[in-house]
Amino acid sequence: MKPPTKTICAVVTEPSVADARGAIKHAAEAADLIELRLDYLRDFNFNDPDELSALLDDRPLPVIVTCRAVDEGGQQAIDEAARLRLLAEAQRRGADYCDIEAAHFDERAAARLDASRLIVSYHNFAATPADLNTIYERLTRLPAAIHKIAVRANDIQDSLAVLRLLDRAAAEGRTLIAIAMQEAGMLTRILGPSRGSFLTYGSLARGHESAPGQVTCEALRDLYRLHRLTPETQVTGIIGQPVAHSASPLMHNRASRELGLDFVYLPLEVNDVGEFFRRFVRPATREISWRPRGFSVTIPHKTAVIPFLDELDETARRIGAVNTVVIEGERLIGHNTDAHGAMAPLDAVIDLREARCAVIGAGGAARAVVFGLCERGARVTLFARDPAKAGALAREFNVAVDSIEAIAASDADIIINTTPIGMLSHDEGTSVVPAGVWAGRKIAYDLIYNPRETRFLSEARRQGCLTINGVEMLVAQAARQFELWTGHEPPVEVMRAALDE
Ligand code: NAP
Repeated sequence: MKPPTKTICAVVTEPSVADARGAIKHAAEAADLIELRLDYLRDFNFNDPDELSALLDDRPLPVIVTCRAVDEGGQQAIDEAARLRLLAEAQRRGADYCDIEAAHFDERAAARLDASRLIVSYHNFAATPADLNTIYERLTRLPAAIHKIAVRANDIQDSLAVLRLLDRAAAEGRTLIAIAMQEAGMLTRILGPSRGSFLTYGSLARGHESAPGQVTCEALRDLYRLHRLTPETQVTGIIGQPVAHSASPLMHNRASRELGLDFVYLPLEVNDVGEFFRRFVRPATREISWRPRGFSVTIPHKTAVIPFLDELDETARRIGAVNTVVIEGERLIGHNTDAHGAMAPLDAVIDLREARCAVIGAGGAARAVVFGLCERGARVTLFARDPAKAGALAREFNVAVDSIEAIAASDADIIINTTPIGMLSHDEGTSVVPAGVWAGRKIAYDLIYNPRETRFLSEARRQGCLTINGVEMLVAQAARQFELWTGHEPPVEVMRAALDE
């Protein structure tokens, strides 16, 4: 059985043979190939190769049999001779491939294993070594159909070395699996197969990963549309730190799928935004050939990114922050869609001209909100705990300022929370204002989207206020980004529905 190119390999990491059999069946729905990790099995007799039958017979997909050594990530100590015997026996029983670590590949292994169905692998769980090319050269001297290099990316820059190895292997006509583990290596897991990696590994469910940073097979297939990616695919993504829990990949990838666009949107954990733009993005200096179209920018890079851009649009310039970069030919252009996103749900329900608005908080989101409100002619008062910070923002936009405690006495009809108070796993269940402030107000707007209804909103709703949560802003700012990158009208309903996944 030959797997197709651009292969998703489901790693079976179950603790029992019965569960592994179930996982193998499930893998057929989600993947193209299965890696059977024997070292995870607790009820398997490693001295009885006949037990392989229960796992290899009736398999629905091609199988790689792996029984990892502990020093390369194996889950239990297994006698070396028994391990080799098992791998050889698996090949004899028709396993499509066996995987053995280069560090354990000796003359005995070479004599017993069929190189035409062998993967010889190198792992480094600590770092991406500087001498990766030398490691590749040593590795590829070993007789095997496929060579595998999996290293830990401590920074997205490490992904570059791994992508370059794939280019080198392709030029040399070798079959290579190359992966940078961890969130910082996500790029290699998703784009690797379209750049020649023999496969990418996926887990069958969250919590069943065999290596850090592994995505589920389902996400690889349905969200990132791995089988459709090519070197021509236009790449977008979110750059920030952290980005693992961002909802943006869901919204943007679902939108591209809906319109049948050849775009992919990746979570990109970036520490040094300048180096990222120099080595990955700027057409004149980037070190890989790919088609980046633009990026969402999130904490902590919204201001830091500005010196690395060629141009800012008027909104980004006046807010002093960029949440969107668009690459137009050689030029990198910064936009800010947060203000549009923040105002869209208010614009839909009220004319903001002369509206009395209280904005709580003086951080990045407050800047976008105050800018949007002022642009519409609203009367804004800023309420914040840090008088110096609030004062500076208030002066910049020429709005009033007061302490949070003073909000009860304010005449605002609309109160907007831009602080994280009430957010899931932050101050969930608390509100930045006392319940008593809501009587007689019109609108409560909380930028928080998780949970959907914060205490701030539930208390306002009980007092008869119209309530708006942060979902609408999240969707509206993303929809504008989508439009900037693709030129297509964004499928807003699809983007909103993606947030419920
Ligand atoms: P930020 O730059 O860190 O600003 C947070 C603001 O909240 C600061 O002014 C901070 O005060 C204030 N704050 C934090 N804890 C406080 C407390 N216990 N009491 C009083 N004030 C407090 O963060 P941000 O980027 O503006 O984001 C703020 C919130 O908006 C987050 O919950 C985020 O999820 C949400 N947001 C939502 C969207 C969306 O699309 N829906 C977009 C952006 C942001 P100090 O200055 O004194 O620290």
